[in-house]
Amino acid sequence: MLESLGFKVYEKSINQYKDSTVLMARRDDEDYIVVVGDSLGFEGKTVEKDGKHILEAKKTHGNAQLLRKLFPFTAPARGLGKEISMGLGDRLGEATDGHIMLMQKYPKVFPVFAQQSIRELKLTHRDYVDVLDVVTFSTFKNGYKSGYGADGDHLKTPEEIQYAIDSGVSMITLDLSEKIHQEPMSEPVQNHLEAYIGKSVSLSCGHTIDITKEDTLETSMIYHDALLYIEEVYKRFIENKNLDFEISMDETATPTKPVQHYIIASELKKLGIEFQSLALRFIGEFQKGIDYIGDIKRFEQELIIHQAIADEFDYKLSIHSGSDKFSVFPIIGDVTKQRFHIKTAGTNWLEAVLLVAIKEPKFYREMHAFALDAFEKARAYYVVTTDLSKIPSLNELSDEQLPDLLKNNDARQLLHITYGEILSAKDEQSQPIFHDRFYKILNKYHDDYSKLLENHIGRHLSALLGE
Ligand code: ZN
Repeated sequence: MLESLGFKVYEKSINQYKDSTVLMARRDDEDYIVVVGDSLGFEGKTVEKDGKHILEAKKTHGNAQLLRKLFPFTAPARGLGKEISMGLGDRLGEATDGHIMLMQKYPKVFPVFAQQSIRELKLTHRDYVDVLDVVTFSTFKNGYKSGYGADGDHLKTPEEIQYAIDSGVSMITLDLSEKIHQEPMSEPVQNHLEAYIGKSVSLSCGHTIDITKEDTLETSMIYHDALLYIEEVYKRFIENKNLDFEISMDETATPTKPVQHYIIASELKKLGIEFQSLALRFIGEFQKGIDYIGDIKRFEQELIIHQAIADEFDYKLSIHSGSDKFSVFPIIGDVTKQRFHIKTAGTNWLEAVLLVAIKEPKFYREMHAFALDAFEKARAYYVVTTDLSKIPSLNELSDEQLPDLLKNNDARQLLHITYGEILSAKDEQSQPIFHDRFYKILNKYHDDYSKLLENHIGRHLSALLGE
């Protein structure tokens, strides 16, 4: 019946609500919600066919809200407390189908399909409503009923937190980078942590932390404001609310020392702050989109201590900029005893760039050349060690060689951090240079993009889970 209206039905989307059948179907490169029977309040166009009411509804915000109400599996939910969770930031709003394909093979992983920072929203000209709606439609279309999270990522101010909550996120990640003071202070600071001086802490991993006066002074100087701010935010937004809470201290210049981690955790416990995960700044470098840089043995030794502290106070470590860290994934999986949160974002964008390199080499060349020009402006936002001279020149490469650029770390970073410039670039007539064509390619090769994601993020999970 729907075929005669030109629809191709997504079989897994067929759901019943009372006497109505609600499903998703595609016609002329566009997805619709189709309701057979009573239209249940969906907004759209009604047609009569074989004596039945059929409503064709577009993917509007109102229809997404109604889907979440009628079919709660399409709404974000808490799950950060589960053993393994993974953030899958999708800057373009095109990746969730691929992520779902993968997650169906990993039922023990709780996915956070919606995960954006304010910075990402600005650079992609999106908002949380759009980010959430896209995921709602994708879970409905694919019949994904295991639950997912929505993370207001790296939120700094009360206004940002309120905005994310009003938009319906299920998780808040509080970014403390502006409350952490690693610059030397001019005046002598008050030691708020004197009670810890001389304490000797034996951890389950066998390591002992002996806390000195200097440790307490340094920790007080660096983290006292951050602790006050966590308490303020917790009381105002998190306590007694149905929200997952992650505390993020990763975006700082110097690594979090185990003694500092211990004191912070102990203070948070004292203050009665409940949170599911904590992001530290680990030793070495977790740069965007490329493998770990640093001493792997030392990373492992410190991770063991950090994990013992997290075990003692009962929360998970959260690994930020977690994509593509293949050399340390087995260590992370092992040391945490497969209890962690890991965040990925830009790598999903890079797979879209790879798709472009494979399918539309001419367009890729344009984009790559533009990224080279935009690089200096973009790098202000990021800590990266990109060396443009290590990227092979475009005119020395055949079309078939272009996808290999995505294996070059410097090219990966170049394309990783210029996404905002690429997507918002305009020509003299104020028309987008890349944005619309990019989305057209993604739409045309949507299934190929999903397969690239399933494969690439799948490699992350198999390394983390030792499979
Ligand atoms: Zn982070």
